[in-house]
Amino acid sequence: MAVYQHDVVVVGAGLAGMRATLAAIKGGADVAMVTKVHPVRSHSNAAQGGINAALTSRGDDWEEHAYETVKGSDYLGDQDAIEVMCQEAGPAIIEMEHMGVIFNRDEEGRLGTRRFGGQQRARTFHVADITGQALLHVLYEQILKAKARVYEEWFVTSLVTDNDGAVRGVVAIEMMTGQLHLIKAKAVILATGGTGRLYEPSTNGLIVTADGQALAYAVGAPLEDMEMVQYHPTTLKGNGILMTEAARGEGAYLINKDGDRFMKKYAPNMMELASRDVVSRAEQTEINEGRGADGCVFLDLRHLGRELIETKLSYINEVALDFSNVNLAEKPCPIRPGNHYEMGGIKTDVNGRTSVKGLYAAGECACVSVHGGNRLGANSLLDTIVFGRRSGEAAVEDAKQIGEINITEAALSRDRDHIKQLLDRKPTSDTPAKIRLEMGRAMNDGVAVFRDEAGMQAALKTVRSLRERYTTLAVHDKGQVFNTNLIFALELGFMLETAETICLGAIARKESRGAHYRTDFPKRDDENFLKHTVVTKGPKGPVITYAPVTVTKWKPQVRSY
Ligand SMILES: Cc1cc2nc3c(=O)[nH]c(=O)nc-3n(C[C@H](O)[C@H](O)[C@H](O)COP(=O)(O)OP(=O)(O)OC[C@H]3O[C@@H](n4cnc5c(N)ncnc54)[C@H](O)[C@@H]3O)c2cc1C
Repeated sequence: MAVYQHDVVVVGAGLAGMRATLAAIKGGADVAMVTKVHPVRSHSNAAQGGINAALTSRGDDWEEHAYETVKGSDYLGDQDAIEVMCQEAGPAIIEMEHMGVIFNRDEEGRLGTRRFGGQQRARTFHVADITGQALLHVLYEQILKAKARVYEEWFVTSLVTDNDGAVRGVVAIEMMTGQLHLIKAKAVILATGGTGRLYEPSTNGLIVTADGQALAYAVGAPLEDMEMVQYHPTTLKGNGILMTEAARGEGAYLINKDGDRFMKKYAPNMMELASRDVVSRAEQTEINEGRGADGCVFLDLRHLGRELIETKLSYINEVALDFSNVNLAEKPCPIRPGNHYEMGGIKTDVNGRTSVKGLYAAGECACVSVHGGNRLGANSLLDTIVFGRRSGEAAVEDAKQIGEINITEAALSRDRDHIKQLLDRKPTSDTPAKIRLEMGRAMNDGVAVFRDEAGMQAALKTVRSLRERYTTLAVHDKGQVFNTNLIFALELGFMLETAETICLGAIARKESRGAHYRTDFPKRDDENFLKHTVVTKGPKGPVITYAPVTVTKWKPQVRSY
């Protein structure tokens, strides 16, 4: 065991974590970034379609972007935060371009855009269909250039608080040796990503396991709007791999088994480019009413031509070929709605501050809230870059006020005991993988595109019984070096805790809004539910309260596309 100390510790090396780290270094702090995988293996690397910005220099209007984001959120997004994000988007894109991101260009040589869902104008900047990878690798170059301290393949097991309840460090396992260490800090920024793998299947990487949400929740930070879980309309049959919205942005159709472009019934104006919640419900309705094939509808790119597919959508073409044996230029590809993104998260202000002193959050694990009930495609990468930077800046500013850090090595003993228990127990036939799969299936059955009381209660019941089973779970591999079995078990603990908050928030919201569609309460109810769900950990378990939504200039209206 060793004790380390830094001014600011950033947990996570995705886009949000790296952007926060760079901002904190620029602010003059001693900064360290902790990550359970090599930085460029973070899920941000998988982002395909693009990043939104209204470039005012070419006639776009940030207020239009903001309005469409508010409408997309089904009026649950905080409008002051959305204004900040949309105003800062243009400069953020230009900054990334200057760092070295080779965005696609149009015929005139200017930065090129494509259209994305829920927006009237093409304002999505992209690098073919590997935008996340391009952004992540460029930020990683900057991290190397800044000689940032990176604790790579270190897994954070808990946050450490001082006697005043302020977060002043983390406990982490160095995975190569299995040793537990204490890293003291004046400020800790969580940038640990989403909750994707609480569901099975999901478009998310296997490492997206809600660690940060559970870490923050454990020290009393509230989680906001966790019930708002996005299902992406186009995930591949069988394994749930994402087929980017950029396909529809470039003009692809959605058709049912009769070859009918069914979106004309559901969103006559925006068709395939309506908001994701709207398109996912339309597809699920087609499937439920018997106009799908084998639980899927189809993404049809044939009319776009081979050249466009091979230049702008080559990655998904490869995926379709490898996993579905479909050449997109020749055949429609079977797809269906699948778990993709968590709109909710650790409640923060626009500078990443949570209600717990010393604790900040940014990126998908945070809820600022700019996505409300439904995120627009390509707004998440923007969220990571804008609020990653802002949280880094705020953390440095606050850290300057902090003197000595009053936490001790005693903080390690709780985690050490927990790990010892997992390792000491006699193996049974139960495994982390089994529990994880049962949880994922229960969530995907009960808290998905269409929800009702009975289905959500059933999911909650399963999650709670799995939590019981977790208390007697044993880790089969007893080794110290790269014990991925142990890491999997620790992740499972985080996932089960977070899954419960999703179920509870969803059951309590007795209306339909954004991604949360209840067949037993099919209408939006602004009178009773234009408010954020807030779940906090109380002494006896989760406690639900509500917080107001900030409305600046866009009054809630009926939402149609
Ligand atoms: C397939 C796919 C395609 C997408 N395409 C787009 C798109 O085109 N446009 C768009 O706007 N959005 C897109 N999204 C969403 C977007 O990519 C994510 O919301 C965003 O990248 C999340 O970034 P992040 O920095 O918050 O987290 P991540 O990139 O997920 O990074 C999380 C980091 O936290 C670390 N970490 C987690 N837990 C621990 C722990 N316990 N200890 C130590 N480290 C830990 C991980 O190692 C990792 O470095 C897509 C998402 C997916 C899944």
